[in-house]
Formats: sequence, structure tokens, C-alpha cells
Amino acid sequence: MASLINGTAPSTEDADGRPAAETDVDVVVVGAGFAGMYLLHLLRGHGFSTQVLERGAGVGGTWYWNRYPGARCDVRSIDYSYSFDPDLEQEWEWSEKFATQPEILRYANHVADRFDLRRDIRFETGVEVAQWDEAGRRWRITTDDGTEVTARFYIMATGCLSSSKRPEVDGIDDFRGDTYHTGHWPHEGVDFTGQRVAVIGTGSSGIQSIPLIAEQAEHLTVFQRTPNFSLPSRNGLPDPDELAAIKADYPAYRDLARQSFGGAPRPLPTKGALDVGDDERRAVYQSAWDEGGLGGILASFTDLRTSQEANDTAAEFIREQIRSIVDDPEVAEILCPHDHPFGTKRPCLDTNYYATYNRSNVDLVNLRATPLVRLTESGIVTSERHYEFDAIVFATGFDAMTGAICNVDIRGVGGLELRKKWEDGPRTYLGLMVAGFPNLFTVTGPGSPSVLSNMMVSIEQHAEWITGCVVHLRGEGARAIEATVEAEDDWVEHVREVGDATLYPKANSWYMGANVPGKPRVFLPYVGGVGPYRRICDEIVADGYRGFALSH
Ligand code: NAP
Repeated sequence: MASLINGTAPSTEDADGRPAAETDVDVVVVGAGFAGMYLLHLLRGHGFSTQVLERGAGVGGTWYWNRYPGARCDVRSIDYSYSFDPDLEQEWEWSEKFATQPEILRYANHVADRFDLRRDIRFETGVEVAQWDEAGRRWRITTDDGTEVTARFYIMATGCLSSSKRPEVDGIDDFRGDTYHTGHWPHEGVDFTGQRVAVIGTGSSGIQSIPLIAEQAEHLTVFQRTPNFSLPSRNGLPDPDELAAIKADYPAYRDLARQSFGGAPRPLPTKGALDVGDDERRAVYQSAWDEGGLGGILASFTDLRTSQEANDTAAEFIREQIRSIVDDPEVAEILCPHDHPFGTKRPCLDTNYYATYNRSNVDLVNLRATPLVRLTESGIVTSERHYEFDAIVFATGFDAMTGAICNVDIRGVGGLELRKKWEDGPRTYLGLMVAGFPNLFTVTGPGSPSVLSNMMVSIEQHAEWITGCVVHLRGEGARAIEATVEAEDDWVEHVREVGDATLYPKANSWYMGANVPGKPRVFLPYVGGVGPYRRICDEIVADGYRGFALSH
């Protein structure tokens, strides 16, 4: 693609017949997940030469890496899909309400083929350093194969949950059996038949994989530190009538999603949980539980995110469900969360999770009562005893939201290190740009709704905002844009204030950075809602990119 900014020559082929990587482009995008793919499509459409650098060997981002058994989206597929192309959304048929990882990966590959994206993606290429060149007003990006690419704009589309973490435990490399991390699952799959398996971690990844590993393994031992609230998905075939109605007027449905609180059309509650009687409240929770899905209970009353007393009613309802499903009352009690308000850690969506503890080949170890001490050659030692295993699965999560960004040594004006700037917590304007780092954009970055929303809707909004911004700069003849320190300070304060008005800061969650030792305790996403956030972003543009400085 010839650059409309630089007049770069079109790519030629390398010795293997693949397109040779251009070394100077208008835009470098890191990551070929749903964000990077859409950005590439948009930017190319506007004539910008664009190169996507992707460390995996294929597209799909989180759905490329997270191949553990049971991996599936916890947002309905009809909502977790691109809205930008009417033909694409009409032609693609999801086979389940909540699609599996293989189906979502097939969708990502279909999109890559349909829009001919692969020719501008360099796979198996990690980015190590990105340095702003003040004189040239360009980013110099160094990859792990030692090559350098320069670009006017540099976009981190690296995902919010892509820097996986293993548990902090002594002897982690001593174990001689097989170890797996849910976030880096082998592509060929794993057969646990006849094996004694351990799963450490009971977040979404653990809760999705445990029922399936239990069906295959000879014996499964789950090591739980903190119980989570998990809701039934009630997965199944999509309702054909509902699907037909949505497809008949998809634009209207998508628009509702864009203006909604969480990025999926859902009526907002009008009453508080404490404003209604016990019977009515219970009926509302029961109906949401029976319907399945993540949004139901949390969105059933206005005050569940802000009032502890209101939240307690929902939390107790879910604990009652756990006690009714799990046969052994002691096990049920260990599975009941008490340490955080419902919803302040991302609730999990499951199929048969709690019932799995009724199986005779499954045990639960409560690490609060008997903490993990170390791994050994043959298993796991807790304060109580030694357990022997053939395989250990780490379902221990991610350095969320900032991890993948800070894995790259990003240096802005005057050599300012992003890692240093964010030492006490990330500072961004709108979760899109960072003062001191011109022409660097982050997609669904800290300070934006991102992980609190349907990521597809937030990704599309950011990709469109960023593309609109670089088109605007080209029209203005501007070479750089940067968030001002004042705008960034005000936004960081606003994000904090809105977060503090909720119960979220009460939880030791990855939203708070609490799962990574030494990470500052800051509420990372913006809880103001997808629709209101979009309006703020649009108003800032309409106001001449208020809070941004353009330079020529
Ligand atoms: P996670 O929610 O952070 O859960 C990690 C689990 O590992 C927690 O139970 C944690 O316990 C435990 N753990 C971590 N370090 C440990 C240690 N040293 N010793 C013992 N236990 C330890 O990670 P995740 O399950 O991968 O999920 C992360 C997020 O990814 C989810 O919240 C969700 O947003 C997303 N996700 C989505 C889907 C989906 O769409 N279906 C599926 C998977 C993941 P503590 O709580 O005590 O720290």
C-alpha cells in the first residue's frame, strides 16, 4: 500500500514469496486480535500504509492463545461480533448462544480472509522497544527479530488480558510432570485421560475448564484461593426467532448496544434492590438466574454496584444457589464467596461448574485454610499435605490492562519511559492517549470502559475514534497529536471519582491490579458506561479535539 503520508513504495516479496515487510509506514499496529484487525481494515480503507505486528502465528488475539477446554465467550455471540460490515453480520451464523473459542477463532480467520488482512500482518513478530523520534516526529519500533520499523502513528492493540501470569509459589519449575497455563494452551490440545490433574485458580478460565477436565481426568484436584461468583450460562442454540428479528434490523440493535451501559442492548433497571419487597426481589433474581448469562442479576436493580446492603441481597441469593447445587455442605461453603461484593470481581459464566464438585473424582482444596507452600518434582505441597499429580494447570490469570503495554519498552518525548510514568498507576486521557507520548494510541486502554463492557463494541469505538483522529490530522497537515497533561490529570481524577462511587474498589481484583504483587492499587477501567463514554469522546472531537495538542 503506497502511503498517503510518506509516499512509501508498495511492498515487494521476500525470498519465500511473502510480502516483504515495509520498514517505514504510516501506522504500526501491535496485535492482530479483533482490535488490530479492524484498525488495519479501517486505516487501509483511508489510504494509510499500515503494518500489524503480531507475536502469534495467526489472527484472533485472546482467542488465538486461550485454547483451554471449555473456553468460550461470556458475552452472547450475537453481541460479541463485528458490526461494521452489514454483509458480514448477515452472512455469519453462530451455532451457539455463547460461542466456543474454536468458533470465535474461525470467525476471526473468516474476517481476515474476507478483508484480505493477512498481507499486512507480520506474524510471529514481537515488539520489544518503541521510541519516539522527536526530530522526525515518528515512532521507531524494534521487533524481537532485530528489525526496525518506523511509523508516524503507533497503536497498541495488545488486548487487556494477554500478559499471562503464573502463581507466585516456590519450586514452580521443579515439577517434572506437564504444566499448562490456560492463556497459552497447546494448539494440539491436551488429553488428560487417566491422569491425576491439578487446577490452580478459580477465575473465569478455571471455572470454564474444570468441568471438562473433570470429565476426562482420572482425578482432578482444584486449588482455590478465593471463591468467585459464577452464573449459569444456560447455553444452547440461538433462538431462531430472536435472531431473525435482530438480523431484520441489525443497525437499530447495534445502535442500542453502542448507547448502552455495558455494550449489549439490555433495559436499564428502574428500581433499587432495597425498594422492593423480599418476594419481588427474589423473583427478579430467580428469573435472571434461570435465564442465564452474566448481565441479568447485576443489571436487575439500580443499586447493586453502589450499595453494599443491596449487593448483599444478590450475593446471598447466589450463595443459596451454590448450596442447593453442591451436595457436600462443607464443600459448598468453601465455594461461597464472602470476601467481595458480587460483580466487583468479574463474575464467571459456567456450564456445570458447581455440580462438578458432586463428582467422585473431584476434590477441592481451600488454600485459605491450607495455603500453597511449594511445587515439588511430583506435585504440590500445602501447609497440610503433599499431593501427587501427572499434570498441573495454572488458571492463574493475567497482568491485566497494563501488562501487555508495559511489556514493550515504550519511550516518549525526551526518552520518558511509559513504565516509569505509570509506576503509581496508569495515566491516560480517555484510555486512548498518554501525555508525553505523541501519536501513541492504546485500544481499550486503562481509563476506558474496556473490560467492563462488551469488548467488541469498545474495540470498534476506539478503532473508529483513532482512525477519525489520524484522518483529521492528515486533513490539518498536522504531524503529531498529544494529550495535554491537564486533560490527562482531569480524566484520571474523573475515572477515580466515578470508580470510588461504586463498590469495585472493595475487591482484590485484577480490575484493581490486586492480583499482581507490587502492582499499584488503582481501579483500571472507566465505570461511567459505554454510551456516556462514547458521547464524551465524540464531544471532545466536536470541540476541536479538546485536551489534545496538535503540532505541525
Ligand atoms: P483470574 O480471574 O485472575 O483468576 C485467576 C485465579 O487464579 C484466581 O482464582 C486467583 O485467586 C488464582 N491465583 C492467582 N495466583 C494464585 C496463587 N499464587 N495461588 C493460588 N491461586 C492463585 O484469571 P482468569 O480466570 O484467567 O480470568 C481473567 C479474566 O479473563 C476474566 O475475569 C475475564 O474477564 C476474562 N476471561 C473471560 C472468559 C470468557 O469470556 N468466557 C474466559 C476466561 C477469562 P485469587 O482470586 O485469590 O487471586
